[in-house]
Amino acid sequence: MELRKDPITRSWVITGDDIATEGLSSSTANVSGICEFCSVTTSNLHSVASMAGLAGAPWSARAVVHPAPLYHIEGETTRRGDGIYDRMRPVGAHEVLLENYKHDRQLWNSSDAEIEQFLMLVAQRIQDLKLDTRLKYVSVFKNYGKSAGQEFEHPNSQLTATTFVPRRVLYELRAAREYFVAKERCVFCDILAQDIRQELRIVEMRGDYIAVCPYAPRVPYETWILPRTHEASFERHGLNRHGSLRDLAALLRHTLQRIRSVSEEFHLVLHTSPNSLHRSSTLGYWKTIDEDYHWHIEILPVLGSKSKSYTFKEVYYSPLTSETAAKRLREVNVDVKLPGS
Ligand SMILES: [Zn+2]
Ligand SMILES: [Zn+2]
Ligand SMILES: [Zn+2]
Repeated sequence: MELRKDPITRSWVITGDDIATEGLSSSTANVSGICEFCSVTTSNLHSVASMAGLAGAPWSARAVVHPAPLYHIEGETTRRGDGIYDRMRPVGAHEVLLENYKHDRQLWNSSDAEIEQFLMLVAQRIQDLKLDTRLKYVSVFKNYGKSAGQEFEHPNSQLTATTFVPRRVLYELRAAREYFVAKERCVFCDILAQDIRQELRIVEMRGDYIAVCPYAPRVPYETWILPRTHEASFERHGLNRHGSLRDLAALLRHTLQRIRSVSEEFHLVLHTSPNSLHRSSTLGYWKTIDEDYHWHIEILPVLGSKSKSYTFKEVYYSPLTSETAAKRLREVNVDVKLPGS
């Protein structure tokens, strides 16, 4: 596998004729039907970090190296030109973040304390990987459901740490910086200020956190979760403001309950600041990063083919406004009694 840069959009793609990646999802399905991640402490999986267990459980959240990683931590990127093209080796990290010790505890039916442990693990992993100056960005995402590309059954998210900033994040970073240059304000803070004033697209507020449907959604019911207090880095936020992640855990749980009332399947992604230890003189994004960027979680439900048939890849089409989506999501009955809590 190798990374190739699109010379026009300047985005990196991972490509190769690697047969090992074909049937990736089945490579980890245990023949005996026993979940490999349930027995993670005795399996061959390489455990990277683990959070202390709650209520007698041996652990609460855990990071393991992906059994078929797209990126490998060893070696140099050996970035090189190929005429007008650019390529490099896929150096980085690829981890599975187990959200819960229990196989049936998802982020929407776990206790807030359990979800908080998972969020702490995420913050710790990002901070740890950012110490590696080769790595420019750490992505954390969750794919839930077959059409969303879920790989493993055990409740999990995944993490990739890459030597480049992924395309969508790069767009955001550029746009946020341009807005800041023009207005000397954070675009996300301005969005929040207006949306809180208008109340039309707010799904729920809890403590310092807010769940909101973006003004121009890519898919129906797209929802973002952001801190109301400005902060560019999720990991700094999570590790410095002890206890604040409990509110985020509750809001995340509620929001996923709401989302799942319209679609079982969804994508979730955490957008945090890039690695500022890797100061790039040519890109220059990081100079005002603490002021111009604002971490957030994006949740994109995967809805049926009805909306898909109208979707062009270049223009997102959402047959439902965010105002209507937010109203419907607000009306969903959340806080159902959790098992064992
Ligand atoms: Zn399991
Ligand atoms: Zn902000
Ligand atoms: Zn984003």
